[in-house]
Amino acid sequence: MRILYVEDEKFLADAVIHVLEKSGISVEWTDDGEEGLNLAMKPIYDCIVLDVMLPKMSGFDILRHIREREIKTPVIMLSALSQAEDKIKGLNYGADDYLAKPFKTAELIARLQALSRRPALQDEKVIRFGDLYYNKENRTLNELDLTEKEALLLETLLQEPDRAKNKEYILNHIWGSDNYGDDNYVEVYISYLRKKLKKLNSKVQIKTIRNLGYKLVSKVE
Ligand code: CA
Repeated sequence: MRILYVEDEKFLADAVIHVLEKSGISVEWTDDGEEGLNLAMKPIYDCIVLDVMLPKMSGFDILRHIREREIKTPVIMLSALSQAEDKIKGLNYGADDYLAKPFKTAELIARLQALSRRPALQDEKVIRFGDLYYNKENRTLNELDLTEKEALLLETLLQEPDRAKNKEYILNHIWGSDNYGDDNYVEVYISYLRKKLKKLNSKVQIKTIRNLGYKLVSKVE
């Protein structure tokens, strides 16, 4: 599970992250509301844990913005203000859960696990892999436009990503079975796609596997 955690109390954040990571949850943390919003706009997290009082932008505003833009990532709000009013406000803006501070990290983990067991709210037109999100409908990779052939190549690599695809398989998928069979096409488009991954600073790479073909691999964070 991969989560985004927006919390400006560093001491608390450090303690929570330590426990979450020990439970196998990968955490991306920021203490800044605006940066929190930028990160939250990427549909790559299984859950977002949002503090309410934050520098530059409140947790409520972050939540409202992402829901307006139809980002459906589950959100747990954290607040020292345990008043019913605050809880209602969060839930109205589209929070999935609410935890009053102080809380036990075990409680947060239990809520995260409960949310991750829900059927995926994910958009079916978006395919995720590592830090990438590919939108099939408008052929964008993390908002970067792909050409038709690059998009088809990426879709091919994203199918059963654990399995390497050889050049013949890729040629058939992109240029059809009656292609003029030029392996160079594949190499050329692999290099185009690699350039785009580099441009995005993605942790995902296209690996060449000897005698087997190509495969997407996400570097461990
Ligand atoms: Ca705070």
